[in-house]
Amino acid sequence: MQQSHSYCPECGNTIALVEFEQTYMLKCSTCKAEYYFDPKVSAVCALISDNQVLLIKRGNEPGYGKWSLPGGYVDRSEKVEDAVIREIREETGLRIEDITLLGVYSSTGSPVIVIAYLTRASSGHITPNHEVLECGFFDLNTLPELAFPRDEEIIRLAAVS
Ligand SMILES: [Zn+2]
Repeated sequence: MQQSHSYCPECGNTIALVEFEQTYMLKCSTCKAEYYFDPKVSAVCALISDNQVLLIKRGNEPGYGKWSLPGGYVDRSEKVEDAVIREIREETGLRIEDITLLGVYSSTGSPVIVIAYLTRASSGHITPNHEVLECGFFDLNTLPELAFPRDEEIIRLAAVS
């Protein structure tokens, strides 16, 4: 975990990162004022059509060269549904509209909260962007090596939803 170098607006001393049971907060070392240290929110989408799911081959770490559901980080003040539609468009070139919430995934010690959606229709043509090595549909019974075990759980849930 990277050390913060912020200064306390109350007293001007250094704000430190404090760990408690694998969770983190920011606290002034002098006056003990506490500050928000927000988690990161990511939104992914399982696009399922004809018993196939859309996956991307990752061009970034974590999981470079392995496959995952398309998606990405939600921007501050952005509506989550808008973020997932935007990310699918950016990463795969496909437009999606009707999305259904599948679930929310998080784990102790990880700053990332993943919000997963399902959609069954898209328009446009697959045109992966620079963050993506490849993009394509895979049969639900023959998935490639996935970067995140969570994605398989999401895909299994999507398939029966
Ligand atoms: Zn302070």
